[in-house]
Amino acid sequence: MLTIGCHLSSSKGFLAMGKDAVKIDANTFQFFTRNPRGSRAKALNPGDISAFLNFAGDHGIKKILAHAPYTLNAASADEHLRQLAAQIMADDLDRMEHTPGNCYNFHPGSHVGQGIETGITHIASMLNTILKPDGHTTVLLETMAGKGSEIGRSFEELREILNRVELSGRMGVCLDTCHVWDGGYDIAGRLDEVLEHFDRTIGLSRLKAIHLNDSQNPLGSRKDRHARIGEGHIGLKALARIVCHPALKNLPFYLETPNELEGYGKEIALLRGLASESDNPLGTAGQ
Ligand code: FE
Ligand code: FE
Ligand code: ZN
Repeated sequence: MLTIGCHLSSSKGFLAMGKDAVKIDANTFQFFTRNPRGSRAKALNPGDISAFLNFAGDHGIKKILAHAPYTLNAASADEHLRQLAAQIMADDLDRMEHTPGNCYNFHPGSHVGQGIETGITHIASMLNTILKPDGHTTVLLETMAGKGSEIGRSFEELREILNRVELSGRMGVCLDTCHVWDGGYDIAGRLDEVLEHFDRTIGLSRLKAIHLNDSQNPLGSRKDRHARIGEGHIGLKALARIVCHPALKNLPFYLETPNELEGYGKEIALLRGLASESDNPLGTAGQ
């Protein structure tokens, strides 16, 4: 069965997110660890977490994905901003020890004119200060659209970051379908070639999560504007091939499409339908 969910608001806590997920037939979800624009995090509520863990066990919710605030820039030219990114991410990883065994996704950063090499050096050094050998969370680099001076558009850049991280065994990659498309990887026309390129460069074993989004813009636009499933330039057929692909179908999928809960529910139903059809192409279910 497909592991699929969407981005949910964490404002009411973990149990509330679990209940929202179940309402829309999701068996996972993504959430921001704190206000994505600010840096303050609410105190953790141990009662909420233990109630959520029980609820998740009862309802088959697994592989929840935390997302770092997108305003952080570990590659900033300003040392104070680099330190802020390190501090917040270290604090997020401490907090995630209460829900162990999950992943934490972040945008690698923007080099803001310093050049990719300097940016990558900053990102790797931040990771080398915050990763601990005894942590229970896998930290994911998100593939980026390449807007502005974003690092992580190419698989080679992500590989280079991983190469410089001492505890790189604690790391993986989250592939965002809108971002790679906008970044120039033709996942609609040449999915197998893109996956082979990913495998040669980074290794498919590093791929831990998929952000499943359509794109408002054509291939290579470097824009990063998400569209609803089937309403963008990637299209429903291509996104269906992604959730059914043998190398991808067992990964968790997270929708970050412009939707409220009800719209996410419809997308999940649509994708679950397509995935089960591909498992039983001749309609042989139950025989
Ligand atoms: Fe993201
Ligand atoms: Fe994303
Ligand atoms: Zn995006």
